[in-house]
Amino acid sequence: MANRMTTDPNDIRKIIDKCDACFIGMIDKEGKPYVLPFNFGYEAGIIYFHSDKSGQKMEVLENNPNVCVAFSTDHKLFHRHEPVACSYGMRYRSVLAYGKVEFIEEYGEKERILNIFMKKYAGREFSFNEPAVKNVAIFRLVPDKIHARESGY
Ligand SMILES: Cc1cc2nc3c(=O)[nH]c(=O)nc-3n(C[C@H](O)[C@H](O)[C@H](O)COP(=O)(O)OP(=O)(O)OC[C@H]3O[C@@H](n4cnc5c(N)ncnc54)[C@H](O)[C@@H]3O)c2cc1C
Repeated sequence: MANRMTTDPNDIRKIIDKCDACFIGMIDKEGKPYVLPFNFGYEAGIIYFHSDKSGQKMEVLENNPNVCVAFSTDHKLFHRHEPVACSYGMRYRSVLAYGKVEFIEEYGEKERILNIFMKKYAGREFSFNEPAVKNVAIFRLVPDKIHARESGY
């Protein structure tokens, strides 16, 4: 099974754009992993997230902003010999992005980012009332390192 690794921004964008969720890997205070599924926005190489201002993930990220974010799409089971279990596998395209998340506090920037999510998931922009913008936490990842892997395609 051929694996192709790439850091080409176009390949990476195409894979990320096909995903409707990603998984954020975090490290808690005890050094243990904490991984959560998340919706996201993606623009110009930057990954954006939004959440409640409370909860375990906020404590974890405020203590340690280092993350590894995984995206995966185009999953397709294949086999070389139908009766041989070990000949089965999964074609996929995936991306891993590493770096430190940064919280966004500026009101206008939060509004702009909320519309990145809305365009991705609802197909259009919205207007937001002030409490909604103030009460949501928005953070971004400008990846230090990002690469894609295509397996079986
Ligand atoms: C497809 C998808 C997209 C999502 N997108 C977002 C998003 O954009 N923003 C957002 O804030 N949240 C999103 N969520 C929910 C997110 O995964 C977390 O469940 C949520 O943010 C609460 O996390 P927390 O650390 O604050 O947990 P808390 O509410 O503090 O929960 C405490 C405990 O509950 C358990 N727990 C938390 N989340 C989950 C979970 N998802 N599954 C199983 N156990 C869990 C953990 O063991 C944790 O210790 C999404 C979930 C899914 C499945």
